[in-house]
Amino acid sequence: MNSTSDELPARTLERIASQLGCSLTDEKLALYLDEQDELKHFQECFHIPKMKDLPLIDLSLVNKDEKSIYLLGNSLGLQPRKVKTYLEEEMEKWAKMGGYGHEIGKRPWITADERIAHLMENIVGAHKDEIALMNGLTVNLHLLLLSFFKPTPTRFKILLEDKAFPSDHYAIESQLQLRGLDVENSMLILKPRQGEDTLRMEDILEVIEKEGDSIAVIFFSGLHFYTGQLFDMPAITKAGQAKGCFVGFDLAHAVGNVELRLHDWGVDFACWCSYKYLNSGAGGLAGAFIHEKHAHTMKPALIGWFGHKLESRFHMDNNLDLIPGVNGYRLSNPPILLVCALEASLEIFNRTTMETLRKKSILLTGYMEYLIKHYYSKDNAAPNKPFVRIMTPSDIAHRGCQLTLTFSISMKSVFQELEKRGVICDKREPSGIRVAPVPLYNSFHDVYRFLNVLTSAVSSAKLK
Ligand SMILES: *Cc1c(COP(=O)(O)O)cnc(C)c1O
Repeated sequence: MNSTSDELPARTLERIASQLGCSLTDEKLALYLDEQDELKHFQECFHIPKMKDLPLIDLSLVNKDEKSIYLLGNSLGLQPRKVKTYLEEEMEKWAKMGGYGHEIGKRPWITADERIAHLMENIVGAHKDEIALMNGLTVNLHLLLLSFFKPTPTRFKILLEDKAFPSDHYAIESQLQLRGLDVENSMLILKPRQGEDTLRMEDILEVIEKEGDSIAVIFFSGLHFYTGQLFDMPAITKAGQAKGCFVGFDLAHAVGNVELRLHDWGVDFACWCSYKYLNSGAGGLAGAFIHEKHAHTMKPALIGWFGHKLESRFHMDNNLDLIPGVNGYRLSNPPILLVCALEASLEIFNRTTMETLRKKSILLTGYMEYLIKHYYSKDNAAPNKPFVRIMTPSDIAHRGCQLTLTFSISMKSVFQELEKRGVICDKREPSGIRVAPVPLYNSFHDVYRFLNVLTSAVSSAKLK
């Protein structure tokens, strides 16, 4: 892409538009950016839903054979075309040779998860032995907290952000209750300042400085699911550890979206799901990370046979020889069908780098931001005309690809109008519509089309 890495996206877009002799709102710019996009061929690796197959589409408003405008990769990534092939390979192996499949074939089932762990290394910035692919995200969070949350009479709190994802909130609440702690006193929830949507880094650091001695674990999302705010993970890690806290992250919305360096940042532990930006399908195989510095000191609280070293696992003598690090936390034999889906997606990621994806992402989301502000910011909108506010930080260092939009008119009604016109995105209570142009399979022209549809949706939406 035609941009220097430290140039702001709006500046890059202006420069290119002026070279083309067009305005930033011109379709020509979108088409040119797509033409120049070195990642554009990745679109073909995915099934992109067509207008005619969408349940709530109004076929009088769209071309039925056209591709939908899929901006929901933050919630459920699209299906890689290879998934079906890989699933069929393992189904066939199972049909033809039954239990022999555990040990032979392209993906011996016993080690299927370990076989693909290296494909996650560059995505999360960790060594293979620091990564386990297992369970669901919330399960992994519980398993990790059982080790890393070791409350004492003076250090017993868990610090998290306000309006954390419900599952994370409940997991932490129930972990506190499990240890007989009073949730009110032990769950330290950090709220944005009055009238602000997102947290300020200075406020996060101040709480850590002030309360750190009583905090056992700091657990933040890497990127907030609702606001789209990307937290400064290395700074939070450093500040927390300086106070003697363990620091962990939920990377559900960060993984496959922004660059991560879990190992180099010294993060203690992390977990993530793989069905959002990682495209592994609903309920896909989740991930967990424990830094290698803890490999021989942190032990799982709950143990199963797949935590036992492979070389003696099947001796069945019931003398545990635990795998050091996060792979000792594995409980059960890996779900081969989930491994197939994840493998198909991770292979695509490994044909490029997170750095390259992120570079496109910054420009793609910057383009969307520019167009939304151009047509809909309160300052640009005509008096009494609806306006749109972007809640997500505009600083590229503090966001990934998602933008969260709020409207001066009924959000639900705008959302319905978008659905009728083949935009797939989601609404989240209390008032946001989340849109995520994903650099792997979204184009600049998708963003351009989205803005056209938004115009027609806003003018058809009910006022309240
Ligand atoms: C998507 C998401 C989850 C979902 O948890 P599962 O265990 O995969 O159902 C949890 N936490 C966060 C922050 C999420 O974004």
